[in-house]
Amino acid sequence: MVFRNFTVSLRPGIATFVFISVSALGLVADSRTTHLQHAGAITADQREARANNFIKEKLQFWQKRLNLEKWEVSIQLVRNTSLKPKTLGNIHWDASTMQAAIDVQSSYDYKLPFQEALDDMEFTIVHELVHLQLSSLPRSEASRSAEEHAVNEITQALINLAKH
Ligand SMILES: [Zn+2]
Repeated sequence: MVFRNFTVSLRPGIATFVFISVSALGLVADSRTTHLQHAGAITADQREARANNFIKEKLQFWQKRLNLEKWEVSIQLVRNTSLKPKTLGNIHWDASTMQAAIDVQSSYDYKLPFQEALDDMEFTIVHELVHLQLSSLPRSEASRSAEEHAVNEITQALINLAKH
């Protein structure tokens, strides 16, 4: 069950995360700004292959760290045409089956230097997993923005901790 009719903005505060609680299904989508890309030493296809390995490794790492291993979480890189405009990722989940699926923007559509794109992908993964951790909480239209802000703060703190 994948719903794509919801958009979210990330980082500087314009949080527009949307959550649906139609039965046990949930979704959020997230966006962040991208910047100019530098020419890389490896081809675009090689970057995408590396990014694909990277997101799977990071999902495994962060899913364990966030104690979300009871969930079956899949992840894939998707072209931005598959994402809501100005979003860089999203997560859908079904609490009844404990399954979740994360979409992360493909490296083909990043305009950042490759390492920065990978760092941004990792931020997206942690961000979506934090949403998943919070998915059992009640939500409302009014709480979306506050949740988005909190999720970003927690995500940044977790990433900072992991790098020290
Ligand atoms: Zn979000």
